[in-house]
Amino acid sequence: MRVFSIPMRVRFRGLTRRTGLLLRGPAGWAEWSPFPEYGDEEAAHWLRAALEVAEHGYPGPLRDTVPVNGIVPALAPDEAVRRARESGCDTIKIKVAGETSLDADLARVRAVREALPDVSLRVDANGGWSLDEATVALRALAPLRLEYAEQPVAAVEDLARLRSLGLGVPIVADESIRRADDPYRVAELDAADGIVLKVQPLGGVRRCLALAKELRLPCVVSSAVETSIGLQAGVALAGALPELPWACGLETARLLAGDVVERPLIPESGRLVPPVVGLEPTRARRWQADAETTDWWLARHDRVAALL
Ligand SMILES: [Mg+2]
Repeated sequence: MRVFSIPMRVRFRGLTRRTGLLLRGPAGWAEWSPFPEYGDEEAAHWLRAALEVAEHGYPGPLRDTVPVNGIVPALAPDEAVRRARESGCDTIKIKVAGETSLDADLARVRAVREALPDVSLRVDANGGWSLDEATVALRALAPLRLEYAEQPVAAVEDLARLRSLGLGVPIVADESIRRADDPYRVAELDAADGIVLKVQPLGGVRRCLALAKELRLPCVVSSAVETSIGLQAGVALAGALPELPWACGLETARLLAGDVVERPLIPESGRLVPPVVGLEPTRARRWQADAETTDWWLARHDRVAALL
């Protein structure tokens, strides 16, 4: 096992460093990196996912490449445009409803739409808007031709209410799938036009494939801001889904100031290639965490492993 600590290039979800643990099994290396504030029960899903990769590897890909979206954090409009361009992707996801006001959010989305009229645009609110705010926001955003809005409100019941208003922006559920006690509520309440699948939070590539089949909703695969070792499991899932209508949120290696592999999974022309064999963390030593962080992760690992 190796514990890593890599600085973030841009503060993301309040994080300035990404830390986690790499572990090896008979099928190769896997990443276990639940966010530090998550409790052991939640972190256990993430560990299940890592162990599955280490023990069984990846299912075979059904497609040669996976389209990915560029990601734009809560930046000022001109910075946001620069970041969107730099991604080289045809689809851009813009973070909203975080530390910035609705006006600032709208200005950011508008700036990207004006600078890049032909890209597909989506926003991700991480459940940060109230139902009223989301209604105002989606009304204002609809003319900007959004592909979808990801988790505009937190509660699955509110997602359903918002969707029933028919504001002209499709709704995709993320937190309502991966952090909910019951991911099936999204389908029962007809609360979304699609769902986000994340390998670690949902407990593995095969569990995600099963969920996609059961929920019968269009899927998009996203990362949990991982090193290329963790990211690769997401690319494998995207490669193995029978249908993949949207570009995936897997252009996140660039959010980290470094990576544990020789050649990080950075998309070329907005696409990544599903793995056949796993990556090796040959650069892990460069990003080895300090003793305190290492002890913290190893203790967490022992506690969480005992829950499985
Ligand atoms: Mg999201």
